[in-house]
Amino acid sequence: MSKLLEVNDLKKHFPIHGGLFGGVTANVYAVDGVSFDIAKGETLSLVGESGCGKSTVGKAILRLIEPTAGQVVLDGERIDNIPLSQLRKLRRRIQVVFQDPFSSLNPRMRVRDILAEPLINFGLAKGGSDIDDKVAALMDKVRLPRDAMRRFPHEFSGGQRQRIGIARALAPGADLIICDEAVSALDVSVKAQIVNLLSDLQDELGLALLFISHDLAIVEHLTHRVAVMYLGRIVELTDRRTLFSKSHHPYTRALLSAVPVPDPDAPRNRVILTGDVPSPINPPSGCRFHTRCPFAFDRCRTEEPQLRSVGTGHQTACHLEHAPGEPIAAMAMA
Ligand code: SF4
Repeated sequence: MSKLLEVNDLKKHFPIHGGLFGGVTANVYAVDGVSFDIAKGETLSLVGESGCGKSTVGKAILRLIEPTAGQVVLDGERIDNIPLSQLRKLRRRIQVVFQDPFSSLNPRMRVRDILAEPLINFGLAKGGSDIDDKVAALMDKVRLPRDAMRRFPHEFSGGQRQRIGIARALAPGADLIICDEAVSALDVSVKAQIVNLLSDLQDELGLALLFISHDLAIVEHLTHRVAVMYLGRIVELTDRRTLFSKSHHPYTRALLSAVPVPDPDAPRNRVILTGDVPSPINPPSGCRFHTRCPFAFDRCRTEEPQLRSVGTGHQTACHLEHAPGEPIAAMAMA
């Protein structure tokens, strides 16, 4: 599969100003050298605890915030350094669905007008009836009744509003949709419906998805590959099946072992983490995870592990030669 998006050594550092003259006194290392790619029609999930930098990666790709360093390449063309005026036409190809659909939908606009806006802005509809036809087709795609286009956002449930958000992302004909915690605020059954919708749309339209989530259980049903982030860095990157059956990094194992399973009495290799995530202002020396890792040894405290290959398409940033313990049987894929 050809690459649609390449992210190379992306960094986003937020300066902290202080002191007598308001100079930069420190930096928040929110994203600190992240690289991955996404093929056309592929889903890559970016997972990790709150504050690990995953949403910042999404915003930096979209240039909603300016990256500090690194490259973002869309279909062979760098988009991290082009003027914002030129970026506009490329924005058509990368769209975003945020966690809270209500705050991202204008409450004073009817759904018809919300969906018409990108069609008009990108010159994709010719006039009134053409707009109505295209909005109706978008409503069909996200499985909302056509007559609902006359209603306002507050007249919809959370799941329905998220469908409107997805329709708006589809309107300009995007190749890639960044879903930033797009199902996190929804009830379990609604979550599953939205994930199924995204999966169906991907099959139908050949969409690529960057699915940003703290919830590995949701990711399992949607993704092709997973990148696990900790304190601004990717610590493991592999395909879904390998991640859920043969993960290598102790942090990934801790996340997996915390995922609820249908039978809570089934034997599991729990990896219990202690302590809080350290501050991204002053990340720990060596392996950033060493302050919480139950397998840390001397080398971990001084030498930062780089991503290295431990199998076909499987990379990990850990000094351990072999994955600790046995595979997490309870999470093994069927
Ligand atoms: Fe744990 Fe050391 Fe591996 Fe980091 S490098 S995850 S501290 S074993």
